[in-house]
Amino acid sequence: MISKELEHLLTQGPIRVGELLVERLSSDRFEIRPRQANDPNPTIFKDAISARQIAKYDRNGKYRPLKGAPNLSQDWVLMLQTIEEVREALDYFYPGAVAGWIAYRRGELVPTHLRQTLNRQTGMYRITRRITPEQADQVVCMTCRSDTGCLRTILWKIDAYRPISCLPPEKFDVSYDQLGREDFTIPFLCAEACNLLVAAARAAVKNSSK
Ligand code: SF4
Repeated sequence: MISKELEHLLTQGPIRVGELLVERLSSDRFEIRPRQANDPNPTIFKDAISARQIAKYDRNGKYRPLKGAPNLSQDWVLMLQTIEEVREALDYFYPGAVAGWIAYRRGELVPTHLRQTLNRQTGMYRITRRITPEQADQVVCMTCRSDTGCLRTILWKIDAYRPISCLPPEKFDVSYDQLGREDFTIPFLCAEACNLLVAAARAAVKNSSK
Protein backbone atom coordinates (compact mmCIF):
# COMPACT_ATOMS: atom_id res chain seq x y z
CA MET A 1 0.00 0.00 0.00
CA ILE A 2 2.83 2.40 0.89
CA SER A 3 4.61 1.67 -2.37
CA LYS A 4 1.38 2.23 -4.30
CA GLU A 5 0.86 5.57 -2.58
CA LEU A 6 4.43 6.60 -3.39
CA GLU A 7 4.02 5.48 -6.98
CA HIS A 8 0.83 7.47 -7.29
CA LEU A 9 2.38 10.62 -5.80
CA LEU A 10 5.45 10.36 -8.01
CA THR A 11 3.32 10.31 -11.16
CA GLN A 12 2.33 13.87 -10.22
CA GLY A 13 5.89 15.11 -9.79
CA PRO A 14 8.70 15.11 -7.23
CA ILE A 15 7.73 14.63 -3.61
CA ARG A 16 9.28 16.14 -0.54
CA VAL A 17 9.59 14.55 2.88
CA GLY A 18 11.48 16.38 5.61
CA GLU A 19 14.84 17.33 4.09
CA LEU A 20 14.45 14.98 1.12
CA LEU A 21 13.40 15.36 -2.49
CA VAL A 22 12.26 12.20 -4.25
CA GLU A 23 11.94 12.15 -8.01
CA ARG A 24 11.06 9.61 -10.67
CA LEU A 25 13.41 10.12 -13.63
CA SER A 26 12.13 7.22 -15.76
CA SER A 27 10.27 3.93 -15.29
CA ASP A 28 13.25 2.35 -13.53
CA ARG A 29 15.20 5.36 -12.26
CA PHE A 30 14.40 7.11 -9.01
CA GLU A 31 16.49 9.69 -7.25
CA ILE A 32 16.50 10.77 -3.60
CA ARG A 33 18.61 13.73 -2.59
CA PRO A 34 18.66 16.46 0.08
CA ARG A 35 16.31 19.29 -0.86
CA GLN A 36 18.79 21.97 0.06
CA ALA A 37 21.88 20.37 -1.45
CA ASN A 38 24.15 22.41 -3.68
CA ASP A 39 27.16 20.11 -3.87
CA PRO A 40 28.19 19.89 -7.57
CA ASN A 41 29.90 16.51 -7.00
CA PRO A 42 27.77 14.54 -4.59
CA THR A 43 28.63 10.96 -3.65
CA ILE A 44 26.35 8.60 -5.55
CA PHE A 45 24.84 5.60 -3.78
CA LYS A 46 22.92 2.89 -5.62
CA ASP A 47 21.18 0.83 -2.99
CA ALA A 48 18.45 1.55 -0.47
CA ILE A 49 20.48 0.24 2.47
CA SER A 50 22.94 3.14 2.01
CA ALA A 51 20.19 5.40 3.35
CA ARG A 52 20.65 3.80 6.75
CA GLN A 53 24.29 4.86 6.88
CA ILE A 54 23.60 8.35 5.47
CA ALA A 55 20.87 8.94 8.06
CA LYS A 56 23.15 7.88 10.90
CA TYR A 57 25.49 10.90 10.85
CA ASP A 58 24.87 14.62 10.51
CA ARG A 59 26.62 17.06 8.22
CA ASN A 60 29.51 17.32 10.71
CA GLY A 61 29.90 13.55 10.93
CA LYS A 62 28.26 13.30 14.35
CA TYR A 63 25.79 10.55 15.25
CA ARG A 64 22.14 11.60 14.80
CA PRO A 65 20.09 10.20 17.69
CA LEU A 66 16.89 11.72 16.29
CA LYS A 67 15.71 10.80 12.79
CA GLY A 68 13.68 14.00 12.50
CA ALA A 69 16.62 16.30 13.25
CA PRO A 70 17.14 18.93 10.53
CA ASN A 71 20.79 18.09 9.98
CA LEU A 72 21.08 15.40 7.30
CA SER A 73 24.37 15.47 5.39
CA GLN A 74 24.02 17.22 2.04
CA ASP A 75 26.69 15.71 -0.18
CA TRP A 76 25.03 12.61 -1.62
CA VAL A 77 22.48 11.30 -4.12
CA LEU A 78 20.70 7.98 -3.92
CA MET A 79 19.88 6.43 -7.30
CA LEU A 80 17.41 3.58 -7.11
CA GLN A 81 15.65 1.33 -9.59
CA THR A 82 12.35 0.37 -8.00
CA ILE A 83 9.59 1.96 -5.99
CA GLU A 84 10.18 -0.70 -3.32
CA GLU A 85 13.74 0.55 -2.88
CA VAL A 86 12.42 4.12 -2.59
CA ARG A 87 10.02 2.99 0.14
CA GLU A 88 12.81 1.16 1.96
CA ALA A 89 15.20 4.11 1.76
CA LEU A 90 12.56 6.57 2.99
CA ASP A 91 11.94 4.32 5.96
CA TYR A 92 15.62 4.48 6.89
CA PHE A 93 15.56 8.27 6.72
CA TYR A 94 12.14 8.91 8.23
CA PRO A 95 10.74 5.70 9.73
CA GLY A 96 7.03 5.32 9.19
CA ALA A 97 6.59 8.77 7.61
CA VAL A 98 4.55 7.65 4.60
CA ALA A 99 2.63 4.99 6.56
CA GLY A 100 1.84 7.57 9.25
CA TRP A 101 0.61 10.02 6.65
CA ILE A 102 -1.68 7.40 5.09
CA ALA A 103 -3.03 6.43 8.54
CA TYR A 104 -3.56 10.10 9.43
CA ARG A 105 -5.60 10.78 6.30
CA ARG A 106 -7.74 7.74 7.04
CA GLY A 107 -8.37 8.98 10.56
CA GLU A 108 -6.52 5.98 11.99
CA LEU A 109 -3.59 7.74 13.68
CA VAL A 110 -4.55 8.42 17.27
CA PRO A 111 -2.17 10.77 19.09
CA THR A 112 -1.08 10.11 22.66
CA HIS A 113 -0.88 13.26 24.75
CA LEU A 114 2.36 13.94 26.61
CA ARG A 115 0.78 13.46 30.03
CA GLN A 116 -0.39 9.96 29.02
CA THR A 117 3.09 9.06 27.80
CA LEU A 118 4.75 10.30 30.98
CA ASN A 119 2.20 8.64 33.25
CA ARG A 120 3.20 5.32 31.70
CA GLN A 121 6.90 5.71 32.53
CA THR A 122 8.52 3.40 35.06
CA GLY A 123 11.95 3.01 36.65
CA MET A 124 14.27 5.99 36.31
CA TYR A 125 11.73 7.80 34.10
CA ARG A 126 8.88 7.51 36.59
CA ILE A 127 9.85 10.93 37.95
CA THR A 128 8.62 12.54 34.71
CA ARG A 129 5.05 12.05 35.98
CA ARG A 130 5.75 15.02 38.25
CA ILE A 131 6.45 17.50 35.46
CA THR A 132 4.37 20.67 35.63
CA PRO A 133 2.55 21.91 32.52
CA GLU A 134 4.90 24.91 32.38
CA GLN A 135 8.00 22.70 32.54
CA ALA A 136 6.51 20.39 29.92
CA ASP A 137 5.87 23.32 27.62
CA GLN A 138 9.44 24.50 27.99
CA VAL A 139 10.96 21.07 27.39
CA VAL A 140 8.86 20.54 24.26
CA CYS A 141 9.92 23.95 22.97
CA MET A 142 13.59 23.22 23.39
CA THR A 143 13.52 19.65 22.09
CA CYS A 144 10.98 19.71 19.27
CA ARG A 145 11.37 23.06 17.51
CA SER A 146 11.80 22.59 13.78
CA ASP A 147 14.79 24.85 13.16
CA THR A 148 17.17 23.15 15.60
CA GLY A 149 15.36 20.13 17.03
CA CYS A 150 13.03 18.02 14.94
CA LEU A 151 11.12 18.31 11.67
CA ARG A 152 8.18 16.20 12.79
CA THR A 153 4.73 17.77 12.89
CA ILE A 154 3.29 17.33 16.38
CA LEU A 155 -0.21 15.86 16.73
CA TRP A 156 -0.42 15.62 20.53
CA LYS A 157 -0.89 18.17 23.32
CA ILE A 158 0.38 18.41 26.90
CA ASP A 159 -2.95 16.87 27.87
CA ALA A 160 -6.38 16.76 26.26
CA TYR A 161 -7.18 20.31 27.39
CA ARG A 162 -3.80 22.01 27.29
CA PRO A 163 -2.06 22.72 23.99
CA ILE A 164 1.64 23.43 23.68
CA SER A 165 1.87 27.18 23.85
CA CYS A 166 5.43 28.10 23.02
CA LEU A 167 5.82 26.63 19.53
CA PRO A 168 4.35 28.37 16.47
CA PRO A 169 0.98 27.10 15.15
CA GLU A 170 2.74 25.75 12.03
CA LYS A 171 4.44 23.09 14.17
CA PHE A 172 1.04 21.41 14.46
CA ASP A 173 -0.10 22.02 10.89
CA VAL A 174 0.22 18.93 8.68
CA SER A 175 0.10 21.08 5.55
CA TYR A 176 3.09 23.18 6.60
CA ASP A 177 6.59 22.50 5.29
CA GLN A 178 8.64 22.31 8.50
CA LEU A 179 11.70 23.58 6.60
CA GLY A 180 9.72 26.78 6.09
CA ARG A 181 10.12 26.65 2.31
CA GLU A 182 6.42 26.57 1.55
CA ASP A 183 6.76 23.46 -0.63
CA PHE A 184 4.16 20.72 -0.50
CA THR A 185 5.67 18.02 1.71
CA ILE A 186 4.55 14.70 3.10
CA PRO A 187 4.61 15.55 6.80
CA PHE A 188 6.70 13.43 9.17
CA LEU A 189 4.16 13.08 11.95
CA CYS A 190 4.80 12.79 15.68
CA ALA A 191 1.87 10.99 17.30
CA GLU A 192 3.60 10.42 20.63
CA ALA A 193 6.58 11.89 22.49
CA CYS A 194 9.85 10.12 21.70
CA ASN A 195 12.48 8.83 24.16
CA LEU A 196 14.58 11.94 23.69
CA LEU A 197 11.74 14.14 24.90
CA VAL A 198 11.01 11.84 27.83
CA ALA A 199 14.69 12.02 28.82
CA ALA A 200 14.57 15.83 28.57
CA ALA A 201 11.45 15.84 30.76
CA ARG A 202 13.29 13.75 33.35
CA ALA A 203 16.22 16.18 33.37
CA ALA A 204 13.84 19.13 33.81
CA VAL A 205 12.06 17.56 36.77
CA LYS A 206 15.34 16.50 38.38
CA ASN A 207 16.87 19.97 37.98
CA SER A 208 13.84 21.65 39.47
CA SER A 209 13.97 19.47 42.59
CA LYS A 210 17.63 20.23 43.37
S1 SF4 B 1 8.70 14.31 20.61
FE1 SF4 B 1 8.27 14.13 18.43
S2 SF4 B 1 8.59 16.20 17.61
FE2 SF4 B 1 9.57 16.10 19.62
S3 SF4 B 1 11.70 15.55 19.22
FE3 SF4 B 1 10.60 13.65 19.65
S4 SF4 B 1 9.97 12.89 17.64
FE4 SF4 B 1 10.50 15.06 17.39
